[in-house]
Formats: sequence, structure tokens, C-alpha cells
Amino acid sequence: MQQTTWDVIIIGGGSAGLSAALMLGRSRRRVLVLDEGLPRNRFAGHMHGVLGRDHTSPLALLADGRAELERYDGVEVQPGIAVAAHGAAPAFTLELADGEHLQARRLLVASGLRDALPAVPGLTEQWGRGAFVCPYCDGWEARDRRIAVLATSAAQVHQAQLMRQLSDRVTVFAHGAELPDEARAGLLARGIGVEDRPVAAVVADERGALRGIRLDDGTEIASDAIFVGPAPEPNDPVLRELGAERTAHPMGGEFVVVDAMGRTSVPGVWAAGNVTDPRSSVPFAMAAGSMAGAAINADLVEEEVRAALAASAA
Ligand SMILES: Cc1cc2nc3c(=O)[nH]c(=O)nc-3n(C[C@H](O)[C@H](O)[C@H](O)COP(=O)(O)OP(=O)(O)OC[C@H]3O[C@@H](n4cnc5c(N)ncnc54)[C@H](O)[C@@H]3O)c2cc1C
Repeated sequence: MQQTTWDVIIIGGGSAGLSAALMLGRSRRRVLVLDEGLPRNRFAGHMHGVLGRDHTSPLALLADGRAELERYDGVEVQPGIAVAAHGAAPAFTLELADGEHLQARRLLVASGLRDALPAVPGLTEQWGRGAFVCPYCDGWEARDRRIAVLATSAAQVHQAQLMRQLSDRVTVFAHGAELPDEARAGLLARGIGVEDRPVAAVVADERGALRGIRLDDGTEIASDAIFVGPAPEPNDPVLRELGAERTAHPMGGEFVVVDAMGRTSVPGVWAAGNVTDPRSSVPFAMAAGSMAGAAINADLVEEEVRAALAASAA
């Protein structure tokens, strides 16, 4: 069978990867989007803060994106998991979990991240339903309601102060986190409660809806929404294998270093979306993917100019 060399293989078919594919497809590039199909926000029934798609299904957005890409005959979206990459531009080999090997001139890693939730019983079941990470994504729906902020570090004082903008019934559950005196004073000054007793579990009603938080001493505190700070873990084994430079992120974890167009330290390899930054919401991921798609096309054009000059000089 003849071996295809794709112009670009995009690892990940979320908002970032599909946006990049759109730019590349419109530039008549041969593009393969390889997607495991587990976008980060798949737990959420509705997506917010995305202009033109506010309060719609995040999965419907991706389905529409895939349908739009069908117009571009150079683009293919396939299920698959990339496990490793070798080589250098313009000849990368990508290894898939099923043992298949694929060739590409450029790589874009848009594989998102995993949220490692605090180990509190009952929390996982509420993820995306009654428990959330982002005030801008899910805060409005909790306005004027009883909001619990389950702190795992002092960084969540900021999250609690953002939530206070939406409700005057906010409680921080310190859950063992050291809250500096100044931060604690700032919380109390704005009427935010601080609960220092240890948390035992997140409690649901008989229909599975969030009911509240149970403390170690058995007290149950009713809550309508919980905001947490999961540890972000980028899906980046391919980037690590390629030796892409990474740096510690203020929100935790180590993330690949990219320039404004998504270029990593490895020539020919780009990255976009949550794999580069845990704060990247859907509009950010779309913008980053779109920029990376355009930058990769420009890079390929430069390579083609060099090749044409070499051919004409020969
Ligand atoms: C509960 C929750 C609710 C959220 N709500 C909102 C909201 O309302 N509004 C908003 O703007 N943002 C929201 N977000 C953030 C949103 O999920 C991210 O901004 C968005 O998913 C980032 O897009 P991405 O393309 O970078 O990554 P993803 O959407 O996560 O897509 C990455 C894709 O790559 C695939 N993949 C991973 N590894 C591999 C591999 N090795 N090979 C092949 N494929 C791979 C994944 O399976 C996935 O399909 C929410 C997040 C959570 C957790």
C-alpha cells in the first residue's frame, strides 16, 4: 500500500484542533485530525461564554465543526490515539496506539488536558453538573445561589472572590489548605464564609443532583454549586517524547512553551489549546488553533519556496 505523507497531522479534534484543520483545509493542505474523542468539557450539558453558541452543547459545537470540515477534501478526521512521534521536519513519524505509523511534514498537538479532581467522595459524580472549575463558564448559572468553593490551595481565594461577584452566599471550605491571614481577611470582609472543618464528602439527592457538602463531624451544609481547582494534567506524551520545552504553570503542572502562533521549541511542531494552557476556554482554544493552522501553512509555504528556488537553480 502506498504510504501517504500528510502535510499536517493534528493530534486532537477539540475546539483547537478542528479550528486549525479549518484554516489548513482552506489552504488546500492534506490534513489528518486524529482524535481520541474525549474533549475536556464532555461532562457539561451546556457551554457558556462562547459567542454565538452560549448555553449550547459543547459536543454539538464539535459535531458541527467536523461537518463543516467535510467541505474541504484535503481534511480527514479519524478516531485514533497518538502515543509517540519521531523524526524531524519535514519527515515526522507518528505512532498510534493500534501500532499504525503515519507520516507528516508538520505536527500540531491539540490534545487538551485532564482535570485531576481532589479526592473527595461524590465529587467526580458532580463534575460538570454541580461541580465546576471556571467562574466564567458556569458562574452565572449559580448567581444568587449557595456556592461552595472547595479549596485545595490558597489560589482558590481568587476563585472565591470571583464567585462573590455573582452571589452573596459563598463559603470557602479550606479542606486543609493554608489560607494566609490577609487572604482570609479579604474573604471575611466581603461576607464570604470560611469553613475550616474537614470535608468528608459531596452529597447528592436521590436523583443525583448536588445537595451539599458533608463535613467529617457529620454536619451537612447545603450547596447549589461547588467550584474546585483541579490539578491540570496536559495530554502531552508526544510533546515530551519530542523533547519540547516545558515550564511550570501558575495554576499547576508543567506546560509546553509556545510562541504567539503556537510554535514549540521543536522545529515543525506546534501546540494549541488546553495542552498549552489550562486557562484556555473554548474561544481561546479556537483562536489558538486557528493561529497555529495559519502559521503552519505559512511555514509549509516557506519550505515550498526554498524547494522551488533549489529546483530552479539546479
Ligand atoms: C466541566 C467543564 C466545563 C467547561 N465549560 C466550559 C464553558 O462553558 N465554556 C468554555 O469556553 N470552556 C469550558 N470548559 C473548558 C473547555 O473544556 C476547554 O476550553 C476546551 O475543551 C479546550 O479545547 P482543546 O481543543 O484544547 O481540548 P479538548 O476539547 O479537550 O480536545 C482535545 C481532544 O484531543 C483528544 N486527545 C487527547 N490525547 C490524544 C491523543 N494522544 N491522540 C489523539 N487524540 C487525543 C481528546 O480526546 C480530545 O478529543 C469547560 C471545562 C470543563 C472541565
